[in-house]
Amino acid sequence: MAAQVIDGKAIAAEVRAEVARDVKALQKSHDLTPGLAVVLVGEDPASQVYVRNKAAQTVETGMQSFEYKLPADTSEYDILALVQRLNANKNVNGILVQLPLPKHVNAEKVLNSIDPDKDVDGFHPTNVGRLWIGERALVPCTPTGSAILAKKVIPDLRGVNAVVIGRSNIVGKPMAALLLRESCTVTVAHSKTKDLPAVCRGADLLVAAVGIPEMVKRDWIKPGAVVIDVGINRITTPEGKNKLVGDVAYAECAEVAGAITPVPGGVGPMTIACLLQNTITAAKIQYNIKD
Ligand code: NDP
Repeated sequence: MAAQVIDGKAIAAEVRAEVARDVKALQKSHDLTPGLAVVLVGEDPASQVYVRNKAAQTVETGMQSFEYKLPADTSEYDILALVQRLNANKNVNGILVQLPLPKHVNAEKVLNSIDPDKDVDGFHPTNVGRLWIGERALVPCTPTGSAILAKKVIPDLRGVNAVVIGRSNIVGKPMAALLLRESCTVTVAHSKTKDLPAVCRGADLLVAAVGIPEMVKRDWIKPGAVVIDVGINRITTPEGKNKLVGDVAYAECAEVAGAITPVPGGVGPMTIACLLQNTITAAKIQYNIKD
C-alpha cells in the first residue's frame, strides 16, 4: 500500500495560523506585538530569498519585521555592535543572523553574542544546553518542524524506535534531543555508522538529514515506518533538468513506508513556520508568560 504523504505545506499553514492567534492573544493580554529582526550580510542570492520570505511571513502573522541588510564588507565589529543594539531593543523579541556570513566574520562569535532569550535559531550554547537538560528552550527550527510532522502521524512517540541519520548541530543533534524528550528510543547514525541500512531497518521513525541525494533506499525502510526527509539537494536529471530531491529515494520508499514527507513540500515549509513560532516563544520567555 502506498504511504500516507505528510503535507508539510498544509501543516506549516496550520502553525502560522496558530502563530497569528498567539500574536492577537499577546496584543490583548500584554499589549505586545512580537518582533523579529533578521540580519543579512552580503548579496548571497539564496539568503536574500530566505530573508524576503521570512520577513513576508512575519508580517502576515501580524508580527513586526525588522530587516538589516548590510554590505558584504561590513566589519565583524559592526555586526557585533548591531547585535548588541538588537539585544537591547525591547521591540525586538527574536534575532536571526542569516548564514552563511562572509569569510572575514567569525560566525560562531556573532551567533554566541545573541541574547539566548532572543536566539530564535536556537544555536546558542545556552539553548543547546537547555534543550538537552529539559528546560524551556529555543530549539532549532528544522528539527522542531520535523518533530511536528512526525507527531501528526504518531501523536504519542513514547517508546518509538527512532533513527536519525546525521549529527549536525543544526539538524541531527537537536532532532535527537527532541525525540528523546518525546521518550523515543533514539539512535543517531552518521558517516562512521556500520551497516547503516540494517540500523535504519530497525526504525519505526526514520529521520534523514544527510545531504546526499536519495541515499536512503527502499530496502532500508521497515514496512509501515514513518519517514521524515530533511534533505534538500539540487540535482540534474539524466534529461538535463534541475530538480530538488531529498536524502530519501522517495518513489521507492513510499511503496514500503507507512507515511513519508515529500521534497519539496515536506520539512522545507515547516522551517520558517517554526521560526515564527520561536519568536512567540522568545517573547513569552522575555515577558515570563507561561505557555
Ligand atoms: P551536515 O553536512 O552538517 O551534516 C550531515 C550529516 O550527515 C553529518 O553528521 C554526517 O556525518 C552525515 N553523513 C554524511 N555522509 C553520510 C553517510 N554516507 N552515511 C551516514 N551519514 C552521513 O548537513 P545538515 O545537517 O546541515 O543538513 C542535512 C541535510 O538537510 C542537507 O540536505 C540540507 O540541505 C538539509 N537541510 C534542510 C533544511 C530545511 O529547511 N528543510 C534546513 C537545514 C538543512 P559525520 O558527522 O560523521 O560527518
